[in-house]
Amino acid sequence: MVTKKHNMKNIKIDVDKNLKFSCSSCGACCRHWLVPVTLAEKERIESLDLPNYDFENSAPEEYFTKLTKSLYTINKKSDGSCVFLDDKNLCIIHSLYGEEYKSLACRLYPLDIFEWKDNTVSATLKFRCQSVKCTQNDNNNDKVALHKQKKKILSFAKEVNSSADGIYSEKVPASLEKIRFIQQAVLKILNYQKLPLKIRLYSIAKIIDFHDSKKMATAIENANELFIDDAFNFIKKAHSELTEEYNKITKNETVDVNNRIRLRFMLCNYARTDENVTEKSARQRIANSFLHFKFSAGLATLHDLSSEYPQTNSKDYLKTALNCTLSEKAEELLFNYLNSRLISGHFFSQPCLNLNFIQGIKHFLLSTVIINILAAIFNNATKNEDNNIISKKALRKSLSVIDRTFSASDVFKFSGMKFTEERLSKHKTYAIILENYGCFKK
Ligand code: SF4
Repeated sequence: MVTKKHNMKNIKIDVDKNLKFSCSSCGACCRHWLVPVTLAEKERIESLDLPNYDFENSAPEEYFTKLTKSLYTINKKSDGSCVFLDDKNLCIIHSLYGEEYKSLACRLYPLDIFEWKDNTVSATLKFRCQSVKCTQNDNNNDKVALHKQKKKILSFAKEVNSSADGIYSEKVPASLEKIRFIQQAVLKILNYQKLPLKIRLYSIAKIIDFHDSKKMATAIENANELFIDDAFNFIKKAHSELTEEYNKITKNETVDVNNRIRLRFMLCNYARTDENVTEKSARQRIANSFLHFKFSAGLATLHDLSSEYPQTNSKDYLKTALNCTLSEKAEELLFNYLNSRLISGHFFSQPCLNLNFIQGIKHFLLSTVIINILAAIFNNATKNEDNNIISKKALRKSLSVIDRTFSASDVFKFSGMKFTEERLSKHKTYAIILENYGCFKK
């Protein structure tokens, strides 16, 4: 039966108009990722006549590794690239037979698409891919705007076949319908450019704290379109009081030792490269936990976690961000990135580790600080004239690595991590963290 869900006229598509992408065939995605394929996709690839690939007479795990009865991954060559990537950085399956023969994971990347229970399809792009652009003033015409690709988005949505739902929080189990109003209000506050970005983020943390209690359950359960303007007008009217309050909270305040340990713990978990934590063996998990423990205590470097990070002698990575400020362009990129994540809604529910809305927003707010700290670290590792001004390039690099774990790393599902995020995002603590390590000086 054809449901109205896939009737293009009825479906709402949430996509950020600033997002653009066109593949530049750099082949990076065919190196970075472990590509999952279903049994049907594996059999489709094996039915192809690919020169130098003998599917019939090769060893069982020559090209694919079995994960479960119906799920495999494509094997890698010794240099880390996919066994189907040729020496010109091209996928041999794509070159000889066309895109449609590749697995869904390969065709989708760097897109992230979900269909929701409320007849919405959301799409966004992974910043891990260097060809993704997200800027209002970018006239880069070789990139195709994502919002112009509705047909493609809807067709992928059918294949992804999700039905994402969400609740506001455990205390207030309001439905996805209500969440949409809160999401719009938060989006409007984030876009209120008359306030500095740090005050907008602080205001969001304050509103979320205010509504995160049983007492406020009625306000959330009764939310409708009016909620959007009410919340926004409150921020608009109270903006000088909010700025004053923020300045009062943060004046001469440093982040206390417990929260510094928590932040370092968050940083190494965002920066980890083994995002499928729960799939690791107990031994590997213990070894990783030990390394993260050492890092949290200031006794290991990010480079110990992965060669992707700069080698530095600094014991306290957080210190690197203390005197740094985002350049104007870096701040604009950060804002665009945050906007794209809020528009898609991929910061909560099935698209993001099954977090409820409140947990998702907290994860979103804290990731902003972590992005800036890591950008400061990357910036510091380059020989800039002024190492205290974070370049757009360093921020982009940070987004690229942090976006990988943002909605993917199992570790953020653990209750210890949720508790840590809960503590750090309380609006007063968050203000002090933002002021010290947020790299926003305006
Ligand atoms: S199958 Fe093709 S597109 Fe997919 S990772 Fe391998 S080389 Fe890249």
